[in-house]
Amino acid sequence: TGLPNRALLLNQLRQAIARKRRNPDFHFAVLFLDIDRFKIINDSLGHLIGDKLLCCISEKLKKCVRDFDTVARLGGDEFVLLLEDIRSISDAVHIAERILESISKPFLIEENDIYTSTSIGITFSEKGYNLPEELLRDADTAMYRAKSSGKDCYRIFDHEMYVNAAKLLKTETDLRRALERDEFELHYQPIISLSDGKIIEVEALLRWNHPEKGMVSPMEFVPIAEDTGLIVPIGNWVIKEACCQLKLWQQNGSVDQNLIMSVNLSPKQIARTDLHEFIEQTLRQNEVSPKNFNLEITESAIMENGEIAENLLNQLKDLGVWLTTDDFGTGYSSLSYLHRFPIDRLKIDRSFVNDMNSHSKNSEIIRTILTLARSLRMEVVAEGIETKEQLALLKALDCDFGQGYIFSKPVNAIEAGKLFDKNFFADIFDHNSLFKETLDTKFLI
Ligand code: C2E
Ligand code: MG
Ligand code: MG
Repeated sequence: TGLPNRALLLNQLRQAIARKRRNPDFHFAVLFLDIDRFKIINDSLGHLIGDKLLCCISEKLKKCVRDFDTVARLGGDEFVLLLEDIRSISDAVHIAERILESISKPFLIEENDIYTSTSIGITFSEKGYNLPEELLRDADTAMYRAKSSGKDCYRIFDHEMYVNAAKLLKTETDLRRALERDEFELHYQPIISLSDGKIIEVEALLRWNHPEKGMVSPMEFVPIAEDTGLIVPIGNWVIKEACCQLKLWQQNGSVDQNLIMSVNLSPKQIARTDLHEFIEQTLRQNEVSPKNFNLEITESAIMENGEIAENLLNQLKDLGVWLTTDDFGTGYSSLSYLHRFPIDRLKIDRSFVNDMNSHSKNSEIIRTILTLARSLRMEVVAEGIETKEQLALLKALDCDFGQGYIFSKPVNAIEAGKLFDKNFFADIFDHNSLFKETLDTKFLI
């Protein structure tokens, strides 16, 4: 592209910061650009065309700014513009709008009309920057906001973004230390056979006992752990802890020898080729039979990892563990993958169970999933059962297993021990009481 590189850009930014310090009336803005879907263009049309596209974009960018502004390329499809001596942030916004319009027009490259767009993050000199890296960091944060707002737009860095970015960074730092400091624990939620109310399985759910924030939900930190790759050591800890706990329960006779321990796997863990060895080794060390171990994998994680997932699932199946597709019905997957993979169970996402009643489309969806599963010789677990009506309906539809607050919330190991002690769910399963309160259901099915 012939554009300045990162080193040269940092130099320019440093000078702009110095000039601002000498002269408060001098204003500048930094625009961080990332081309939308560039990877797709590169992969589908080839790197040569990708390179040419980057050159054409560079030319267009230079035309959108004034001669003394800097257009630099950080690498890949990332560009940074330094606009000096502007009057206010609105000057920067005008230029951003001009760029968006210009990039959205098709590029003619080797007889291909290529359509693309860009996401732009803007930061302004008035924030009292001391280091060029801070400018890039904030403009980059704003660019990410533009991406997540649907791409092909600009966003200006603001205080709220700063607070969010700082919070994220803090969580990330805390998360790095959490393993060493032993701040994780597992809670267990029973999965019940809907034919007789017996606990056949428990799902291990990760909790973070944060020294300041208290118990943090996995919804808050698992995505961050995935982004940073920390999910791999954390996930390994989960597998080990779940095995140890199951062995303990088996040894003190509090669980049936057939009870299954179920653990969630994240897409990042699946991408690791040594996962099945780790699981095999951990089961062996704890003398836990693979027949007592289940892995839950979301259908989107399977789809994202394609062939790798297929190999891994086959290796895990050879090992003898159970495999369940988690959050089934939400992954936009093609149903064709189902029979390709050695999956034992489908776990219907709780959104379907949630607003299920005898009149709703959701009961039809569940009925259809059950039919599909039967013909593929798979079992079905319904998650998120909260009401007697939902339970009665699922029983009437002959769903195999159920999980949800109606039986128990996820609880710590001690509380889980108490659940095993007595036949806790007999009251809920009492046929009369179940159907008396849900008469409607009885007649409609
Ligand atoms: P999931 O695997 O689909 O787990 C089920 C979630 O539904 C759990 O939330 C559980 O508490 C909740 N739930 C169960 N029954 C009901 C109900 O009747 N009503 C409602 N409203 N919710 C119910 P939790 O524990 O917050 O976990 C959320 C997600 O975090 C899990 O979804 C899973 O995707 C992820 N997660 C949890 N532990 C791990 C882990 O060890 N590793 C990985 N990779 N992900 C984990
Ligand atoms: Mg799960
Ligand atoms: Mg689920």
